[in-house]
Amino acid sequence: ATQPYDDQNVFARILRGEIPSRRVYEDDYAVAFHDIAPVAPVHILVVPRGAYVSWDDFSARGSAEEIAGFVRAIGHVAREHELVAPGYRLLANIGGDAGQEVPHLHVHLFGGRPLGPMLA
Ligand code: 5GP
Repeated sequence: ATQPYDDQNVFARILRGEIPSRRVYEDDYAVAFHDIAPVAPVHILVVPRGAYVSWDDFSARGSAEEIAGFVRAIGHVAREHELVAPGYRLLANIGGDAGQEVPHLHVHLFGGRPLGPMLA
């Protein structure tokens, strides 16, 4: 079973506007903002508005509408940043072995330079 959702996690606080972020997009389903420690010229985090710990939690409990909205938001951010032609990478860490640090689902969007081979 997935861990219970901690509504004091940093992305929950960003969603509530309790701590600042550099937002680049928001709609009914998702919010996107710059990663505080970027590892590529474009490094944006896209999070669903709903309280989901991880991809596992979201895929199990999220409604079809939320899931579709979230997926569309990610695509929208990539197009808005003109990343489609050069290419970009999406990544989600799920749980301890993946090194997930923040227990609110987030998808990393990397771009703006050749990204090299996928990490093992
Ligand atoms: P994870 O390792 O959980 O997949 O990624 C967490 C990401 O969140 C890291 O890339 C980290 O730099 C970013 N991050 C952590 N705290 C904050 C914050 O307060 N604001 C923003 N914008 N990003 C954060």
